[in-house]
Amino acid sequence: MSDCIFCKIVDGGIPCDKVFEDDDILAFKDLYPQRPVHLLVIPKKHITSLATATADDVLVLGKMLAKANEIATAQGSPEGFRVIINTGRVGNQEVPHLHMHIVGGQDPVGPMLKRL
Ligand code: 5GP
Ligand code: ZN
Repeated sequence: MSDCIFCKIVDGGIPCDKVFEDDDILAFKDLYPQRPVHLLVIPKKHITSLATATADDVLVLGKMLAKANEIATAQGSPEGFRVIINTGRVGNQEVPHLHMHIVGGQDPVGPMLKRL
């Protein structure tokens, strides 16, 4: 079995607080929320990161974006939100299964990046 924690969440081996799923994607609450609404949207298929995604992944990546507003609205951020996809070492990606953060539920959600 894969060591990937998000693959284990997809398989049900690790529990999650699920908020949406269809055949291709799963959305659940982040375990350590950084805003009142903090969700993760992942492809059910293992894709390590945006750096390894290919043309075969276009549909699932599009679906993740296309569903974001519906998911954010249902979870309490109907007036907007931010999506973040940390990628690779430079992007501080901690979990090596592609995931899109949806953060919101706070008006405004905060500055895009901390100034260096
Ligand atoms: P990254 O830094 O890779 O973009 O984000 C990984 C996110 O996954 C973090 O926000 C972290 O809180 C969340 N996370 C890590 N392990 C788990 C887990 O087992 N369950 C859930 N729901 N979230 C997790
Ligand atoms: Zn995985």
